[in-house]
Amino acid sequence: MIFQHLFDNIHIITTGNNGQFPYTYCFYIDDHIKTIIDTPLDARFVDFFADRPVDLILNTHFHPDHSGCNYLFPQTTIRAHPQDIPALQSHEIFADFYGFKKFNAPPGIMSWFNWQPSHVSGTIADGDIIDLGTIQLEVLHTPGHTPGHCCFYWREKEVLFSGDIDLTAFGPWYGNDASDVDQTIASIEKVIEINPKVILSSHKGMIDTNVKKRLIKYLDRIYTSEKKILQALSNPLTLDELTRHKIIYTRWGKPESTFFFFEKVSLDVHLRRLLKLGLVKESSDKYQSLVIANDYRQGL
Ligand SMILES: [Zn+2]
Repeated sequence: MIFQHLFDNIHIITTGNNGQFPYTYCFYIDDHIKTIIDTPLDARFVDFFADRPVDLILNTHFHPDHSGCNYLFPQTTIRAHPQDIPALQSHEIFADFYGFKKFNAPPGIMSWFNWQPSHVSGTIADGDIIDLGTIQLEVLHTPGHTPGHCCFYWREKEVLFSGDIDLTAFGPWYGNDASDVDQTIASIEKVIEINPKVILSSHKGMIDTNVKKRLIKYLDRIYTSEKKILQALSNPLTLDELTRHKIIYTRWGKPESTFFFFEKVSLDVHLRRLLKLGLVKESSDKYQSLVIANDYRQGL
C-alpha cells in the first residue's frame, strides 16, 4: 500500500504489486478541488481517504481497475467521457463492451472482475479545461483502448496523466470488442505530438526520462503484432486457429480460457483494421494475408 507525494500537490497511490494489473496507480491532487484520478478494484483504497476530503473523481476510462472503487464514494462528483459512461453505469453494457457474450467468455469471468457499477455526475470532452485551483487539467480524448479513454494534461508543467496509454512492456491493449486499433494508434501519436515531459501512467507510475522514445517503442508493439498476424495468415486460418498462435499475449497464464478469450478479442479487433486496409481477406470464416509479411512496413 503506497500513498506517496510526487511533486507539487500530486500524490501517487497504489494498493499493491507495483500497480501491475489488476492493481493500478491512481493519483490524488491535493488542490482547492481535491481530486482523484481513477479508483482501483481493491476496496482497501478507501482507507486512504478516511481523513482526506475528495471533491472530484475523474475516470480515464470505464475499466474495473480504473473505476472499481467509484461506488465507495457515493457523495463525490464523478466525471467521465460520455462514450464510456454507459459501461460505467451498467453490468450489461460493461459486458457488451468487453464482448463477453459475442466471444463466449468463460463462465465466471464477470465475478473475476468483482466490479460494481457507479454513479456518474458529469461528463468530460476533448479540450475541456478542468480548473482544480492551482492546477488546470486539459482533457485529451484518446480513444482506442476504450471508446471514451481520456488523458489529462497539465500543460503548464507538461505533465500527462496517461491512463492506460501506460507504457508497459506488453504494449497497447485493445482486447475489448469496443476497442479500436486505428484509434489506439492515432491516440498514441497524439500523445507523441504533445511530447509531455512527465507521464503519470496507470500501470508504470511516474516516467520522466526518455518519454518520447518510450512512446514510440510502445506504439511499435502494435506494428510488431501486425507483422506476426500477417505472417501467420500466409495460410488461411480461422480466428480460433489464429488465436492459438498467441501473438498478442505471447505467453498465456492461468486460467487459459481467460487468456484465450482476450487473445481472441484482441485479434478480432486487429483483423478489423487489416481487413479495412485490404491487407487481409476473409472467406468462409478463414482469414488470409494479401501481402508478404516480410514486405510489410508499418503504416502501409
Ligand atoms: Zn484499461
